[in-house]
Amino acid sequence: MKTPYYLCEEALLENNLMVLEDVQKRSGAKIILALKGFAMWSTFDLVSKYLKGCTASGLYEARLAREEFAKFNADAEVHTYSPAFKDDEIEEIAKISNHIVFNSPNQLKRFVAKVKEINPDIHVSLRINPEVSSSPVDMYNPCSLYSRLGTTFANFDEAVLEHVNGLNFHALCEQDADALEEVLVAFEKNFSKYFKNLKYVNFGGGHHITRKDYDVEKLIRIVKEFREKYHVDVYLEPGEAVGWQTGCLVSTVLDTFKNGVNVAILDTSAEAHMPDTLAMPYRAMVRGSAEAGEKEFTYRLGGNTCLAGDVMGDYSFDKPLEVGDEVVFEDQIHYTFVKNTTFNGIKLPSLVIKRKDGELDLIKEFGYEDYRGRLS
Ligand SMILES: *Cc1c(COP(=O)(O)O)cnc(C)c1O
Repeated sequence: MKTPYYLCEEALLENNLMVLEDVQKRSGAKIILALKGFAMWSTFDLVSKYLKGCTASGLYEARLAREEFAKFNADAEVHTYSPAFKDDEIEEIAKISNHIVFNSPNQLKRFVAKVKEINPDIHVSLRINPEVSSSPVDMYNPCSLYSRLGTTFANFDEAVLEHVNGLNFHALCEQDADALEEVLVAFEKNFSKYFKNLKYVNFGGGHHITRKDYDVEKLIRIVKEFREKYHVDVYLEPGEAVGWQTGCLVSTVLDTFKNGVNVAILDTSAEAHMPDTLAMPYRAMVRGSAEAGEKEFTYRLGGNTCLAGDVMGDYSFDKPLEVGDEVVFEDQIHYTFVKNTTFNGIKLPSLVIKRKDGELDLIKEFGYEDYRGRLS
């Protein structure tokens, strides 16, 4: 297999899906996939056996959900939310969505009549900003000060109530059930008086359900209690938890040299292929490595672009790195290929699936045309 490539392991993906399935069964929640975080549609035959649909951030994700997910499951639901919808897209979105989620009362009032005219069965929701902010990183904190995501209590407009079937919030990022509990306290305090005619509440994403030490029992308890207390359906829409630790990014050492420290240049890029390592930022794990200085040979691993900061970090190894050696970054499936770029004209990593029998399937290879095609 030619590097670089993202390698998604079907067995690991299915393990995550089974954890989510267990949560659905025992809590009564409906879980849908946030395409924003994981959109490897070649796996949707598998994913659609477990999850109830997809949540989309706009027209293109909604289309992907309708065309590549719902074809495996006629009951699959497409939920579409955007910070703002556009006049020239709203009709198509209404046609292919089962649920539409508006960000503000303004947007809802602007589009609700048209949306219902086009799709009388569509469910309409408003995204609430519960104003509980416990997300560890501001970049990924939907409830930070002056957030544009969701409607605060002060901005809520009771005139929308006659149109809404549900309320949404999304306030977490890689967080535990305790954090959800805190959000719910604030959400219920301000908004439970409006629950009377609701069919559902959508608890958003950011639930780190498939992480080993996540308190699944607590989540199940919270969802069950909420459903029973208010007689509503509850949706969860994780992205990260679906793709969490389901595979890696495989790269090759192209050159090594010393400039104060040992440097290794790889045929991948932090900036272009592992964007959250620089945006969040966080340190990706490298297979067989340790912190700088722990093992005998330490290298600064860097990408094959001209960006000075295109550096994955300093890692130590038992043996010197040689040209041609593979360097494997762990957990590079969620929020990687959905965000990657061809910055510097660098080749996009291929997409590979490791089947349950161990076979590697090259499902997509990218080339010059992909670079050229997004420019003109
Ligand atoms: C990003 C997002 C999600 C998924 O979040 P994860 O952290 O990947 O679970 C769900 N809902 C909304 C509205 C989002 O913006």
